[in-house]
Amino acid sequence: MAIRARLGDYEQVTNDVLGRSAIDYFPRMTEAEALEADRGVWLLNPKVIARDCACGCGETITHDFGPGHELRAIQARVREHFGGPALAFITWLDIELPPKASAA
Ligand SMILES: [Zn+2]
Repeated sequence: MAIRARLGDYEQVTNDVLGRSAIDYFPRMTEAEALEADRGVWLLNPKVIARDCACGCGETITHDFGPGHELRAIQARVREHFGGPALAFITWLDIELPPKASAA
């Protein structure tokens, strides 16, 4: 996930809720000036970053899987397609996608 922030042209403000006298950006501003003008609370839209866990558990998360749930998803597919033992899956996978010569 990437977060992009865009600042506008520097402008004077009055009655700013954070008590700032100016906001945004001008070229060659110092770090202190940038911090003063651009500090604040930056809210992310949770609808943009939240999604259902890909394992199908129904949890709402911010990555593809909840913690440890990728393994849960893999194990569910092994059970569904190979009856449970991981060896059956690995044997099938090695036939379908032979290990590369450099693999250990
Ligand atoms: Zn999950």
